[in-house]
Amino acid sequence: MTVMRADALALDRADPLAAFRDRFALPDGVIYLDGNSLGALPKATAGRLAGLVATEWGGDLIRSWTKHGWIDLPLRVGDKIARLIGARPGEVAVADSTSVNLFKLMAAALRLRPDRRVIVSDVGNFPTDLYVAQGLVELLGFRHELRLVAPNDLAGALDRDVALVSLTEVDYRSGRLHDMADITRRVHAAGALMLWDLAHTAGALPVDLAGCEVDFAVGCGYKYLNGGPGAPAFLYVAERLHGEFRPPLTGWLGHASPFAFETGYRPAGGIARAIVGTPPILSLAALEVGVDIALEADMAEIRRKSLALSRLFIDCVAQECAGLGLTLASPSREAERGSQVSYSHPEGYAVMQALIARGVIGDFRAPDLLRFGLTPLYVRFADIWDAVVILREVLATREWDRPEFKKRAAVT
Ligand SMILES: *Cc1c(COP(=O)(O)O)cnc(C)c1O
Repeated sequence: MTVMRADALALDRADPLAAFRDRFALPDGVIYLDGNSLGALPKATAGRLAGLVATEWGGDLIRSWTKHGWIDLPLRVGDKIARLIGARPGEVAVADSTSVNLFKLMAAALRLRPDRRVIVSDVGNFPTDLYVAQGLVELLGFRHELRLVAPNDLAGALDRDVALVSLTEVDYRSGRLHDMADITRRVHAAGALMLWDLAHTAGALPVDLAGCEVDFAVGCGYKYLNGGPGAPAFLYVAERLHGEFRPPLTGWLGHASPFAFETGYRPAGGIARAIVGTPPILSLAALEVGVDIALEADMAEIRRKSLALSRLFIDCVAQECAGLGLTLASPSREAERGSQVSYSHPEGYAVMQALIARGVIGDFRAPDLLRFGLTPLYVRFADIWDAVVILREVLATREWDRPEFKKRAAVT
């Protein structure tokens, strides 16, 4: 069956999430398919930050820590994110970057399994997840080992030596979705702990951390949560581990009584001990705006639209771009797909630069992937159709084959 632009417009008319688009400041002439790398700007963010700067910082100064609840922000926003990822109140804190949180939780996990010496991850995991594990192994004197397996080959790696399995639920390149419930169950059966990276999950698809009995999780604030560039990340520790969980970075704001200024460290109760230093209030306030918008939407509806967007994208590419060198690099089965679609192309970098020059913003991931993030709160079905038409033109006319599109930038 032929897809036409009218079909996309009909899907937009029937879209229960359509009104959310107006909550975001999106430039004219841009089709933004990179919200999985940097989420769009909520219109409310500028006003919130301006007010915070003028009234709270400028006016109330240091009194704002109490008067405006600044000191509670890491846990308050954490509790909001908890609702998006199936965690309980008190299980999530917002702090630091995803990379730093990975370090904190990996180190804490190893301390909970002192007789075991292996961290398992998959070769396709995001580099920072692997690098942090490598650095930790080095810090601990190479008594531990990072064991890397193929993404669908976990079972063979789970022996009595494994302390922790660390995986990203949605693969950043292909968008492949791991089966969180099944893997977590198998990891626990092997006596190990499970850490999930939700960088490409939180705000994009429903998760049930409590239902899956996940031990640890981390995730990004600046992707599907629209918290702004470098927004603080979040971390989750299951409540049943709160008593014995010991993070390795013992800063004063993770102390049981920071303002007692005691000489000795005593961990705060609960997730608060995962906080290290003074929270970045401006960034946290911006993140809260993005999280509040996500909380207004129904996560099941977001998932439905995300899959409908990727289905339309794949159908349009199959119809419009056949024979133009693209190979689908995302799972064709919807149950295995996150909220993005990726294609490989031998000139992927130049093709993406040419697309960006035409206002279709996705990104490139080495070695040859064109990656298109589908953010249900602000991407329209008509955007998908229009983006694929431009993709066809760029490929069919070899518009990408110009020197300026082949110069590599520092950030791709
Ligand atoms: C984006 C991303 C990160 C980013 O980590 P930062 O510390 O925020 O730079 C980490 N892990 C995964 C899987 C990601 O996709």
